[in-house]
Amino acid sequence: MPQLPLSPPLTSALDLIGNTPMVQLGSLPRSLGIRAQVFAKLEYYNAGGSVKDRVGLAMVTAAEKEGRLKPGDTIIEATSGNTGIALALISAIKGYKCIITISEKMSEEKILILKSLGATIVRTPAGVPIEPPESIISVAKRLQKGTPNSHILDQYRNQNNPEAHELGTGPEIWAQCEGKVDAVVVGAGTGGTITGIGRCLKRLNENVYIVGVDPVGSVLAQPEELNEIKREYKIEGIGYDFVPTVLDRSIADIWLKTSDADSFNYARKLIKEEGLLCGGSSGAAFAGLVEFLKSRPDLNCEGTRIVLILPDGIRNYLTKFVDDKWMEVNGYFNYI
Ligand code: PMP
Repeated sequence: MPQLPLSPPLTSALDLIGNTPMVQLGSLPRSLGIRAQVFAKLEYYNAGGSVKDRVGLAMVTAAEKEGRLKPGDTIIEATSGNTGIALALISAIKGYKCIITISEKMSEEKILILKSLGATIVRTPAGVPIEPPESIISVAKRLQKGTPNSHILDQYRNQNNPEAHELGTGPEIWAQCEGKVDAVVVGAGTGGTITGIGRCLKRLNENVYIVGVDPVGSVLAQPEELNEIKREYKIEGIGYDFVPTVLDRSIADIWLKTSDADSFNYARKLIKEEGLLCGGSSGAAFAGLVEFLKSRPDLNCEGTRIVLILPDGIRNYLTKFVDDKWMEVNGYFNYI
């Protein structure tokens, strides 16, 4: 018989959202001359495999409490995939119908997971800004008008998005670091994660440094000059061509731009050298860490504690950056 104090059975997979583990990195930061202690918060341990499970659950629970969402209703959401997976999983458990609009850019793996959870998927063209009628958001709005008893919970405007992190992810980081955290490096998509974690940690200690990570080609970084290069990027889940309402860009003490090549190669290194089966935006957070310490060598010492958020896992990208051929075809292979 196992001697460990095993936890009792949970009520449903919803109880597997939040309370994610944190792991200290070892050989990878050391091989790069990083002396600071680096901790990774493993959001792929959530039930649906990403940080967005927290947000899906918070938005659904709030809508239920307000009496807006009733049994049998339809949830519609525009997403880069992970919020969709979260909402589809929650809908499967709670008995809602779920329609997800998602651009052609996003991985087939995400689509297969959404389908397996019973969601209806509507693909929209890649690289379309929000206003045109074919954007993920415009299509979601049209679907909502035509679907009785349907709701867009709207992760881009819904304050339950940052609040899920202000009340969940942030306090967990604080507790896991026993109140000793110097900096947190976070990629931004809707910006819920960075805004919520930033609000929580800065309230607990105003000196916690928040490092925002935004892909080259996106417009979320500040000052605006950082966003001058306009080009497509392949990284999924971070970066936008508009600033979502829930993102408070001023919460970051510094914004850093990251390239696809660095992000994918660092994600592969996190997998190969640390055994952390993360996704591409986790590599972007690591690339952000490397850049950050170049600009702040004073923080690169043994006493400093830096936390990276690893928002999702390898599962979503098996045919993309995980595949050597894909890396080669896209010119990213062994770039670092
Ligand atoms: N990484 C991945 C893989 C994601 O799916 C998301 C969510 N879009 C993020 C990072 C960023 O999270 P947020 O929307 O809270 O900024």
